[in-house]
Amino acid sequence: MSVLAIRSLSKTFGGVHAVNEVSFEIGKGEFLALIGPNGAGKSTCFNMINGQLKPNSGEILFEGKNIAGLEPREIWRLGVGRTFQVAATFGSMTVVENVQMALISHAQQTYRLWRPAASLHRERAIELLAQVGMQDAADRPSRELAYGDVKRIELAIALVNDPRLLLMDEPTAGMAPRERNDLIALVKRLVLERGISVLFTEHSMDVVFSYADRIIVLARGRLIADGTAATIREDAKVKEVYFGT
Ligand code: ADP
Ligand code: MG
Repeated sequence: MSVLAIRSLSKTFGGVHAVNEVSFEIGKGEFLALIGPNGAGKSTCFNMINGQLKPNSGEILFEGKNIAGLEPREIWRLGVGRTFQVAATFGSMTVVENVQMALISHAQQTYRLWRPAASLHRERAIELLAQVGMQDAADRPSRELAYGDVKRIELAIALVNDPRLLLMDEPTAGMAPRERNDLIALVKRLVLERGISVLFTEHSMDVVFSYADRIIVLARGRLIADGTAATIREDAKVKEVYFGT
């Protein structure tokens, strides 16, 4: 069974078909890129999957359960994680405190704990930081971090609910090409190690073609191609959309 199955998903804004009858699936442990020109409907897809937008029609099956229209918090609790386009942490707190806060919030929402002891979560937070290579920065104020490192912390935070599916809409926005490659390589390694499925958007075709297991292409709200890098590179419709040939 696939981790996520999207069936005939549609969303309109006024007269605009932002997402139009889109269907695709994500398998377990798959690293899937969603690409397409600006305005293609990528973010609208993400926001329907994470619950920020309600679809007009269609199904979003996560591990077989239709989550279309559920509240974001509920979807997160079920095991769908996400990162935000602009990375942000609480600058006055240390790196490890930022992760601990996320763990506390998760514990409160999941187990309805009243005042869980912050100290209990430190060890787990350090573990998560180690997974993104940031354990040495644990006790530094997070305001001192470079942007690329904030992105890593954000990734650690996205793992607090042990997601089986991770949504990353433009995770490398605002990063230099080198940092961009490093972040995507890191995510890919985590995916392999933990068996998480990832859906991500990325502007750099080099990055997409090097790392994605499969690529889905949207244009004007419609899915126009779905396949491996080798097939997408040669796809006539994709060439037309990107290069006008
Ligand atoms: P992408 O992320 O691929 O650049 P979006 O999903 O952001 O594309 O946008 C798809 C289309 O939906 C665009 O035409 C955009 O202008 C429109 N759109 C997106 N969000 C809204 C909104 N909140 N209100 C009105 N139109 C929107
Ligand atoms: Mg977008």
